[in-house]
Formats: sequence, structure tokens, C-alpha cells
Amino acid sequence: MSYSVKFTLNHEQDTQRFAQILSQLVHSGIIYLIGDLGAGKTTFTRYFLQSLGHQGSVKSPTYTLVEPYTIQGKEIFHFDLYRLDDPYELELMGIRDYLETPDALFLFEWPSKGGNEIPKPDVVIDIQKSDDELTRFLTITVNSESLYQTLQEQLHGA
Ligand code: ADP
Ligand code: MG
Repeated sequence: MSYSVKFTLNHEQDTQRFAQILSQLVHSGIIYLIGDLGAGKTTFTRYFLQSLGHQGSVKSPTYTLVEPYTIQGKEIFHFDLYRLDDPYELELMGIRDYLETPDALFLFEWPSKGGNEIPKPDVVIDIQKSDDELTRFLTITVNSESLYQTLQEQLHGA
């Protein structure tokens, strides 16, 4: 069973607020980030890491495939698979070792390029730009009913 919450991001600050909320609720597992180039997947990740206390830069791992972070003792891996030609490259770069990290959190941009090399998600965040590119429509889908209820309360102020 999966549960979705939809809302509109009118400003980048809305993305920041959403990232802050989610960073307090999801501490490990697999997050997929879906959306076109420029939708805001890396921007979301930057705010997410910063709200956990990360102070350095957050570079897009478009060329490196992955950027690792340790924030307050917690390991977070930000993947961007956009430039991946073949999912097997993930095998060669040692993705299994990353995935075995206990209690780690994984954020995947362009998960569709990962084929069967990456695990199924716990959370899917889909960001779509409006035609004028000013607004973003966000859908977050989760497997956990309790997380869904908390998100409803915090995002829609129920
Ligand atoms: P992606 O990683 O999805 O390709 P980026 O996060 O790199 O996209 O770029 C998103 C761009 O859109 C940034 O320049 C950001 O400042 C801008 N932007 C405008 N509004 C928003 C919003 N509501 N959320 C996220 N980014 C936004
Ligand atoms: Mg990106």
C-alpha cells in the first residue's frame, strides 16, 4: 500500500520548508527524486542536508555519480544517475558497498537509470514544473501510513 500527498511549491522557500519537514521524519532508507532537469531535485537535496546541519557545499553528483556526507554521525549518499549509460556501471563503482552501510539514507536522482541495481524506494518525491516554470507541483508517495498521516498534518496543517 502506498500513500501520496500533493502540494504546490510557489517559491524556493516552499521547497526549503518541505525539505526541513522531511529531514525530521525520514532518517534512513531510499528516497527517489523524480522530475525533469531543473525541477529542483538537487535544490531539495541541498536544503535537506542543510537542515540536518550540513554546512559545506552540496555539489550535484552528475559526473561523480555519488556524493557522500556524514552529518551528525549519520551517513547520507546523494546519487545522480543522469549520466549513467548502463546500470551495470553501478555494480562496477561498488554500489553494493554503499547500500550495505547500516542506517544510511540514500537519495537518488534519475532512479529510472539504475535498473535493478538500486533498491525499491521507501519515499518517492516527484517534482513537476508548471508551463511557465515558476511553480512546482510536488507529489510525495510513502509506504508507511503513519508517515503519510504526519506529512498530511505538517504539510497541510490539518
Ligand atoms: P534538478 O536537480 O532537478 O535538475 P536543480 O535543483 O539543479 O534541478 O535546479 C532547480 C532550479 O530551479 C534552481 O536554479 C532553483 O533555484 C530553481 N527553482 C525555482 N523555484 C524552485 C522551487 N520551488 N524549488 C526548487 N528549485 C526551484
Ligand atoms: Mg540535479
